[in-house]
Amino acid sequence: MSFKSLGLSEALLKAVSKQGYTNPSPIQEKAIPLVLERKDVLASAQTGTGKTAGFTLPMLQILSQGQQLRHRPIRALVLTPTRELAAQVYDNVKSYSEFLNIKSAVIFGGVNQKPQVSTLRQGVDILIATPGRLLDLESQRALSLSKIEILVLDEADRMLDMGFKRDIDKVMSLMPSRRQNLLFSATFSREIKNLANSILHHPVLVEATPENTTVDAIKQKVFRVAKAKKPGLIIKLITEGNWKQVLVFTRTKHGANNLCKKMVSAGITAVAIHGNKSQGARTKALAGFKNNTVRVLVATDIAARGLDIPLLPHVINFELPNISEDYVHRIGRTGRAGASGEAISLVCADETSYLRSIEKLVGIRIPVEVLEGFEPDPNASTEPIKQNQRSSRSRNSGNSNNSSNNRSRRSNKSNNSKRSRRNNDGRSSDRRY
Ligand code: AMP
Repeated sequence: MSFKSLGLSEALLKAVSKQGYTNPSPIQEKAIPLVLERKDVLASAQTGTGKTAGFTLPMLQILSQGQQLRHRPIRALVLTPTRELAAQVYDNVKSYSEFLNIKSAVIFGGVNQKPQVSTLRQGVDILIATPGRLLDLESQRALSLSKIEILVLDEADRMLDMGFKRDIDKVMSLMPSRRQNLLFSATFSREIKNLANSILHHPVLVEATPENTTVDAIKQKVFRVAKAKKPGLIIKLITEGNWKQVLVFTRTKHGANNLCKKMVSAGITAVAIHGNKSQGARTKALAGFKNNTVRVLVATDIAARGLDIPLLPHVINFELPNISEDYVHRIGRTGRAGASGEAISLVCADETSYLRSIEKLVGIRIPVEVLEGFEPDPNASTEPIKQNQRSSRSRNSGNSNNSSNNRSRRSNKSNNSKRSRRNNDGRSSDRRY
């Protein structure tokens, strides 16, 4: 199948070919014709599947064919959970609209609002936004959503995880009820299905990959290791493997900073990216990583969400996530759009139950290795790390069928909503991520 056969205009075909894409990815093949038919779409698409072009290309076609008013009201809104994802979607929209008369803008918290307000004043057709800054500027009358024709909720599962449900409801109330809705999510929880029911009209369901399975191109491996030996092992793997571009995940920002220091002492250029870093520092770290001046990027889950690093060869879980779905998101940073990649997890005794939950979710047994000199501690407890010690984003403490876990998951989720929301839309208050 070619992009042309999907019904895209010459201007879009030219932009796609400039990106070097030869064939549409499965999600693009399925979603583009449906969006062009003006259907509401509920898409299950893992990160790295090409989902952004899947909604952006047809959206650009619809907007460029529609009536364009001189003052350019915002006609399409893409809501994203994080600033990084917003910036990345904006970059994609700009590239794909290069040969069209379409203006786009991105707004998110954590940076001065003035330049954003002045861009909005000049009129934009497509706005990409995080919910907090969007509502902030709307309440200041710096933007209006009253002419929205297309709404995209990108990584909707993460938006709910981060406590944006109320913001999403508020945004809905500011838009005309007649509009096209596209909802993209890597996972399909009950909450996502409820959200979809409340927003989408007779949606067509599109699945690029089975829910929660990991991309085949990713080679997964676990190293069983004593907790204290993890820094030594990761340094050995990176230096002896001569790995040039490695994304490392830690559970906490304190852990990210600590690990970074150890790597730098070992002569490896490493930078941490997490909720405590300013937007400028995050952008700089990511740019350094992309242009290979920084060899290792150490990230927490929330900060890493939405990072688009093409052809990333190595992802290492320095610590396993306590939310199994995060594992899928993390390792989706490698093996992107058909490229192969390697995802390694360093697992110590108290992460055993996390590993079992992850294996259950992804439906495979991940091969295990032990390296000489970095053996696991036979006396260490396999009791899971206490949630109040490490993390309160407790959606998975090792046994997702356990009803008391589910209860604590619900209360923890609501307790964390406000914290996480602020953290990711610019007003940091969460001390862990
Ligand atoms: P996404 O899932 O939207 O984050 O896209 C992941 C990566 O795939 C991005 O680096 C895109 O530039 C790339 N990509 C998107 N569509 C295609 C395609 N049809 N062929 C090759 N690469 C693509």
